Amino acid sequence: MSWTDERVDQLKNLWTEGLSASQIARALGGVTRNAVIGKVHRLGLAGRATPTRTERPRVPSAPRMPALRTHIPEPPVVEEDPVTLEDGTHVSVLAINDRMCRWPIGDPSENEFHFCGHKPKAGSPYCEAHARKAYQPQTHHRRDKGRMAS
Ligand SMILES: [Zn+2]
Repeated sequence: MSWTDERVDQLKNLWTEGLSASQIARALGGVTRNAVIGKVHRLGLAGRATPTRTERPRVPSAPRMPALRTHIPEPPVVEEDPVTLEDGTHVSVLAINDRMCRWPIGDPSENEFHFCGHKPKAGSPYCEAHARKAYQPQTHHRRDKGRMAS
């Protein structure tokens, strides 16, 4: 087994988090405790700020290694129809404000161009559904409706 950049990064992260060489060896897999110690020395990480505390066997919490993270499908969010104003129009470029979802609908060169207008999610210019859409350009429509029922 070889030290790929990714594994070296994992090693650094785990070491910084305070795991022992044997814990790191287990986490990385395919490597011995001695190999981990040798690598740590070669990387010059040996003198870490937090001294090794009394090692107590603790159940590791959720693994924090991005490389091993599995994709968890999020529940689908229903995209609402754009807000309709009192006069029957949609939220135009002139009507849009910070308290409205800025998801564009239609062609910006057309008169009907408007914005979603729903209440934005905290910290986002978009509502819940559009914020999610914004960060995953490819919307996967799942066709498993009703399969959960048993
Ligand atoms: Zn929206």
